[in-house]
Amino acid sequence: MTIVEDAKAGIITDEMKVVAKQEGVTEDFIRRGIAAGHIVINISPYRDVKLCGIGSGLTTKVNCSIGTSTDIVDIDMEVEKAKAGERAGADTLMELSTGGDFTEIRRRVIEATSLSVGSVPLYQAFIEAARKDGAVVHMKEDDLFRITAEQAKLGTNFMAIHTGINLLTLKRLQRQGRHGGLCSRGGAFMVAWMLHNDRDNPLYTEFDYLCEILKEHEVTLSTGNGMRAGAVHDATDRAQIQELIINTELGDRAHDKGIQVIIEGPGHVPVDEIQTNVTLMKRVSGNKPFYMLGPIVTDIAPGYDDRVSAIGAALSSAAGADFICYVTSAEHLALPNPEEVYEGVMSSRIAAHVGDMIKLKKRDADLAMGHARRDLDWEAQYNLAMNPEKARKIRTERMPADADACTMCGDYCALKIVNKFLTPRN
Ligand code: SF4
Repeated sequence: MTIVEDAKAGIITDEMKVVAKQEGVTEDFIRRGIAAGHIVINISPYRDVKLCGIGSGLTTKVNCSIGTSTDIVDIDMEVEKAKAGERAGADTLMELSTGGDFTEIRRRVIEATSLSVGSVPLYQAFIEAARKDGAVVHMKEDDLFRITAEQAKLGTNFMAIHTGINLLTLKRLQRQGRHGGLCSRGGAFMVAWMLHNDRDNPLYTEFDYLCEILKEHEVTLSTGNGMRAGAVHDATDRAQIQELIINTELGDRAHDKGIQVIIEGPGHVPVDEIQTNVTLMKRVSGNKPFYMLGPIVTDIAPGYDDRVSAIGAALSSAAGADFICYVTSAEHLALPNPEEVYEGVMSSRIAAHVGDMIKLKKRDADLAMGHARRDLDWEAQYNLAMNPEKARKIRTERMPADADACTMCGDYCALKIVNKFLTPRN
């Protein structure tokens, strides 16, 4: 039985117990959430992973994506990036290589991490076709399904699969046009294949077969957002919404078959459309876990897209998104390096927490930090900090003459001046 079937049968598994403890909720809350399709726990029969629950009523989780490109294939660096993401506190890792030996890269990355690992199997299917037959449009349908199974057997826990691009979605896209084109690599490959071959998307037409594979290997389906906007001016357009509706229908079908489902959301969304996107997705999907890709909230800050996406991620989480894909400062410019991966995950973790302060009213750590700052208790401040090492390093590199204060105000430390006159509130 899959975890969904267990949950529907009233069985509380060890994974549900672990996640209930992490989140401070009852085991039955998790079981009911999985049974209803509101919560997922990524697992695999092929490897044990650091468990985390994603979905309604749980803290917002952060994904770190890594992977080679056609220009930069350095497996050691990808392993380093996987470790940097995990060290920075990512909850999941997606291995999205498009260059080099796919199986070897995934095997090395999976070996190097305890996090659940996601993939986009169609990358491999299309790119291997391009290598062998000269173009992605020569991809053979069977390869999509064969590679999905092969990646699952390597211990991949969740897969972004572009199920919602069908002929209707494609027509909508062609009719309306786009300011920023298509930014999804998987979406672009599939659209090119459909147009060249005058065929519908096999992941849509053969969805039941796809589900058999996912179920057999207990892979969580993340319905890919191949039509997502690549520019804020295209956000929430007809093609994106068409794909969302199809994906949520397919998501229901998959969940009915005992498969865990996440619905992937957009990646470029202006601030005033974030709540709309989250509400719409949650409403039409029946409250399935919502995976927001960033989102980027302005297109004019390349070099700072980790921060730009953190603004979008915080608002998305506050609005009800459950899962955030980080963005690095190298986005739109280059393949990120390990430092950029680390900082990107930190930015998204901050955003997820800011969202949880609203969504779950999770503010205990902020209250404790307020007290520690007031009391000039530096060790407590470091321990409460999201990145204790960085906080300690900055202060100790520039220590003041008076060790109680810091060099920001030094002798005129406002807290030292007034603390003796104010009664502390705890
Ligand atoms: S010196 Fe200024 S910034 Fe530093 S702890 Fe005191 S009040 Fe805060």
